[in-house]
Amino acid sequence: MNDTFQRKINYLRISVTDRCNLRCVYCMPEEGVDLTDHKEILSHEEIIRVIKSAVLTGIRKIRFTGGEPLVRRGITSLIERVNEISEIDDIALTTNGILLPKMAVGLKKAGLRRVNISLDTLSPEKFRRITRGGRLSEAWLGVETAREVGFDPVKINTVIIRGFNDNEIYDFARLTTKIPLNVRFIELMPIGVSDLGDGGGFVATAELTEMLQDRYGLVPEKVAGNGPAKSYRIPGAPGTIGFISPISNHFCASCNRLRLTAEGQLRPCLQSPQEIDMKTPLREGASTEELAQVIRFAISSKPEKHNMEQAGWAGNRRCMTQIGG
Ligand code: SAM
Ligand code: SF4
Repeated sequence: MNDTFQRKINYLRISVTDRCNLRCVYCMPEEGVDLTDHKEILSHEEIIRVIKSAVLTGIRKIRFTGGEPLVRRGITSLIERVNEISEIDDIALTTNGILLPKMAVGLKKAGLRRVNISLDTLSPEKFRRITRGGRLSEAWLGVETAREVGFDPVKINTVIIRGFNDNEIYDFARLTTKIPLNVRFIELMPIGVSDLGDGGGFVATAELTEMLQDRYGLVPEKVAGNGPAKSYRIPGAPGTIGFISPISNHFCASCNRLRLTAEGQLRPCLQSPQEIDMKTPLREGASTEELAQVIRFAISSKPEKHNMEQAGWAGNRRCMTQIGG
C-alpha cells in the first residue's frame, strides 16, 4: 500500500524484545531501561498474526530487531514460522552478533537469509567501553560464524561517533579489502538517552566519504537490499562500504517501512512519538482483516519526514531498544 506521500510501504521491522545483553552508550542508559513485563510483550502467535495481516497491506519484507533479538526465547522457531508465509520474500535480522556462534546454524535452517551485525569498533578496549562490558572477541566470532554458515550478505553497521571511533574508519574500510563484508557507516541519531548531548559525537557522512575518497578512490556500487545506504567499493575489494545518513541527508522521501514495538505498538516513523495500538485489537480477537485495517491506518499516518535535527536528544526519550532500531 502507498502512504499519503506516494511511498510504497512494504517493509515491517519488528522488535521482538526490549532486552539486551549489551548496554551501548548511545542506545540506552547504564542502568538499562524499565523492562516491559513479559505479559505485555507480543507472543509469537501474536507476531505471526500481525505479519499475516500486514501481508494484506502489501508488506513483503520482515526484519527482526530489538533490543537484542537473539535473546528472545524461541526466535529461531518464530523465524521458521514466518518463512512459511509465502508472501514474505525476505527475512532479515539486526543483531549485536554475540549469540550468533550458538545460534547461526539454526537460524539459517529456519529460513533467515541475511544478518546485519552492529560493530562500532575493532579495539577490544573500546568495544568494552561503548557496549559497557561486552567482549569484541565474542562479537567478532559472531561475524565469522555468520559468514561460515552462508548468510549473504553479512553487513556490519557502524555508528560513527566523533572522538570515539571516527579514527577507525580506515581500519573498517580496509576490512572490506580482505573480507566480503558490507560495512555501513551510520550517522548517530539523537534517539533515546545518552550523555553525548546535542550535537555531541555527531559526524556527518560527507566528512567520512571525503576522507575515504581521498585515500582509496571509492567507486560507486549498487548493493541489492542496501536500503538507504549509498554504497561504494575500494577498487578490487571483495567487500563494500556504505553510508547511511539519516540526519545530514535524510532519506524520508524513499522510506518504505513501518515499525512494530515489542509491546505491540505500530510506529509510523522512527522519530515521531506517534504509536498505533495493535495489541488491544489483537487481544480482543480482531480478525486478520480488522488488523490489516489498523496497519493501513498506521501507513496512512506516516509523516512526510522526521525532525530529529530540531528535536535533538530531548525530543526522543524512548530508546532504540524500546522502539526497535
Ligand atoms: N541489538 C541489535 C543490534 O545492536 O544490532 C539490534 C537493535 S539496535 C537498537 C539496532 C541498531 O540501532 C544498531 O545498529 C545500533 O547501532 C543502532 N542504534 C542504536 N542507537 C542509535 C543511535 N542513537 N543512533 C544511531 N544508531 C543507533
Ligand atoms: Fe543492545 Fe543493540 Fe542497543 Fe547495543 S545497540 S545496547 S546491542 S540493542
